[in-house]
Amino acid sequence: MKKTRVRFAPSPTGPLHIGGVRTALYNYLFAKKQQGDFILRIEDTDSQRFVPGAEDYIIEAFAWLGLSFDEGPHVGGKYAPYRQSERKAIYRQYVEQLLKAGKAYIAFDTPAQLEAKRAEVANFQYDASTRDAMTNSLTLSEADVKQRIASGEQYVVRIKIEPDHTIVVNDLIRGQVTVNSSVLDDKVLYKSADELPTYHLANIVDDHLMEITHVIRGEEWLPSAPLHVTLYDYLGWTDTMPQFAHLPLLLKPEGNGKLSKRDGDRLGFPVFPLQWTDPATGEISSGYREKGYLPEAVVNFLSLLGWNPGNDQEILSLQDTITLFSLEKCSKSGAKFDYKKGEWFNHQYIQQLPNEKLAEMFLPIVAQHTGGAPCALPLQQIVALVKDRVTYVKDLWEQASFFYIAPTEYDEKTVQKRWKPESAEQLTELIGVLDGIDDFSAQNTETLVMQWITNKEYHLGNIMNAFRLALVGESKGPHLFDITEIIGKTETIARLERAIAKLKITN
Ligand code: GLU
Repeated sequence: MKKTRVRFAPSPTGPLHIGGVRTALYNYLFAKKQQGDFILRIEDTDSQRFVPGAEDYIIEAFAWLGLSFDEGPHVGGKYAPYRQSERKAIYRQYVEQLLKAGKAYIAFDTPAQLEAKRAEVANFQYDASTRDAMTNSLTLSEADVKQRIASGEQYVVRIKIEPDHTIVVNDLIRGQVTVNSSVLDDKVLYKSADELPTYHLANIVDDHLMEITHVIRGEEWLPSAPLHVTLYDYLGWTDTMPQFAHLPLLLKPEGNGKLSKRDGDRLGFPVFPLQWTDPATGEISSGYREKGYLPEAVVNFLSLLGWNPGNDQEILSLQDTITLFSLEKCSKSGAKFDYKKGEWFNHQYIQQLPNEKLAEMFLPIVAQHTGGAPCALPLQQIVALVKDRVTYVKDLWEQASFFYIAPTEYDEKTVQKRWKPESAEQLTELIGVLDGIDDFSAQNTETLVMQWITNKEYHLGNIMNAFRLALVGESKGPHLFDITEIIGKTETIARLERAIAKLKITN
């Protein structure tokens, strides 16, 4: 059996869309399941659309996601180079081969002439029905063609599609797709102006030379597949043609139409893995990394957009996903981009992180807010207490800031509701109780404070609410005695004193 080899073949025309990431992920999963190779190939033959920085962005995005390529421009490999612009010399012989075999022809029609034709003929298509009326090597004499080329006239090479043939594309997800060749046009395969093949030819030649066994890509490429099948045939490579699998589209969260950057802007979620700054306009687009996503959560979320393991399991490690993955279980219909589900995954993955790791990630955020002063508070214990309330690591600050910064203001509504006429007096008494406690552990403090409340027959809720208001400044936060243990006796008493001083006369 041939070794499975798949490629992710982006054109570096800007930041990689999240749909492209999903395509790459499915290639990765498929390859790893078969112990195959996952290759990065940069399809940069269209110099008009080339955007500087896009290739580096793509490489950085996959490094962040933890999906590593076995071959590519950044890692090398035995089929190098992996950037099509560096493979120029390779393509030329296949252009010659097609021309010689009469499977392609040279065309001199200028853009202006083509434009005029389009204006003259409704739905003009360069094909068997129109090519005889155009300026090409099928209508000109051989001498004329030679002379035009010798004099430096620019030309393109077009594929010669024979009309009325049935072209069959076998797709691993969609089954057999048949197309009548008459609907295809004589696509440009090569341009003399930049001496480069177009996407279609370069893509096929490279898939062949790089011994790609499966082409897994987005549904938007399905219309190109009949042309690709024809090219394999024309080049005599049908026997080793890769198998195709066209993945379903990612749809808007509401499900109607294709997911776009505008949907992300409208609803506040990123559609790119990493933040991207447009080199031309300076416009910044948000990324999953910068938004605070864990790469594992993004991978898990994306893996289920168009595939499922056949049961209800949702939290899947990359290894589990590889084991369970199959193209047969990929769906044909579009997958709604449920970004809320993405947030849910991130929340779940944050819960799964060891507290030690989470604390490490939270540390710089704490430092940023506290001016970088070293902090004696037990970070791991703090994140353990508040992590179930957050979607992103950076949200931890909102939940935990009161540990670091004592309240100086008290939420007005809470004060009105929770600070009773007797609160100042009771909390003053509480200070005395706390002062006498030596073991300030949550459990011991709780037991002794409860005893005091019971003995005095005070209202438990009223005391606890006022106590929390004094410590946190509002009515949120984890278990009260976990807070007192962490901030310690001196700080607990200081906060009570401050609240009493400030709120005594309020109600
Ligand atoms: N260069 C194409 C792209 O930008 C590759 C399509 C394919 O995978 O064949 O997606």
